[in-house]
Amino acid sequence: MLSVNNVGWMEKEKPVAGPLDAILRPVAVAPCSSDTHTSHGGSGDQHNLILGHEAIGEVVEVGELVTRFKPGDIVVVPCCTPDWLSTDLQSNKYNAHDHGLMASFKFLLSKDGVFAEYFHVNQADANLVKLPEGMDMAAALMTVDMMSTGFFGVEQAEVEYGDTVVVIGIGPVGLMAVAGAHLKGAGRLIAVGTRPNSVAVAKEYGATDIISYKDGDIVEQIMKLTGGKGVDRVIIAGGKADTINQALKMLRPGGIASNMNYFDASETFEIPAWEWGLGMSNKDIRGGFCPGGARRIEKMLEMIQYSRFDPAKLITHRFDGFDKIEDAFKMMDEKPSDMIKPAVFI
Ligand code: NDP
Ligand code: ZN
Repeated sequence: MLSVNNVGWMEKEKPVAGPLDAILRPVAVAPCSSDTHTSHGGSGDQHNLILGHEAIGEVVEVGELVTRFKPGDIVVVPCCTPDWLSTDLQSNKYNAHDHGLMASFKFLLSKDGVFAEYFHVNQADANLVKLPEGMDMAAALMTVDMMSTGFFGVEQAEVEYGDTVVVIGIGPVGLMAVAGAHLKGAGRLIAVGTRPNSVAVAKEYGATDIISYKDGDIVEQIMKLTGGKGVDRVIIAGGKADTINQALKMLRPGGIASNMNYFDASETFEIPAWEWGLGMSNKDIRGGFCPGGARRIEKMLEMIQYSRFDPAKLITHRFDGFDKIEDAFKMMDEKPSDMIKPAVFI
């Protein structure tokens, strides 16, 4: 990201590893909606920033205090790499905010990202995971952000057995929320989206109903589907600020709206008091950033290893070679209708 709305290649110094850190070379990377959003100034006026925060890498260098990794290891890199020495984390069960809003999201927000010949990972022992032997690299790559974020949406929604769950948006994040809600025992599982590939994968991951926001108000459609009762949980992974209002309207009392959307700094939330039951509705609005660190990703990798489901179904477009990162990024930005997620294998 050279400047807002202006991406291209740049030369930078090779990063340096502190005693606890590692320097990696990317082996596989994927662009994320948050990268394209950042490139358009969504989180402020950033410039001379290397984008990218989804990677599998080869360790090329480790700091003198790193014990679990050595050069040559192929590792899975969580998008969120907390500073585990931060006392802020000790009172924050989500470990996503070590020194302020999303501060555990180091790539993009406080340093360069992974679309580089070399990139830096803080506290390697606490943040990296060896790629399990024989594991499909594409599936592993989908754990670091898409699965971690989509599953966090489900965790935050506290989905219970038999709940009627709506997932608004079935891009890669929403699809992982569909898979996660299914694994957590949702009963009826309604997905909102239109792209045909996404609709097909949503059904494979367990959606029981699909509705389109292009066919009229989704609240009306969902109320009709549920015989006027509404739903227990809504996970938001698409739409705009007023999607929160739609979620509130379709929830039953006691329901939870769990937001995954990374809203634009220019957006404003306006909630008419009536829509939130004059403050008496017992409907929670929650929003959060996915936790980070090695243990979370180890667990996700185990779900793949023991065939709970396959996140590699998200990858619709594969590119080969470092130089193709730019093409994959542009595709993510333009979002052609047959794309769910592009990935680059280097
Ligand atoms: P996509 O753009 O790929 O998917 C968005 C989905 O929302 C699509 O299914 C789209 O439908 C649907 N949609 C669009 N407009 C509406 C609408 N008005 N009402 C209902 N649905 C709508 O996004 P991603 O899956 O990549 O990301 C989803 C969100 O999550 C983004 O805001 C992203 O920035 C955020 N994100 C958050 C992270 C976190 O840690 N919190 C990490 C990564 C991403 P259609 O099928 O028609 O395209
Ligand atoms: Zn992301």
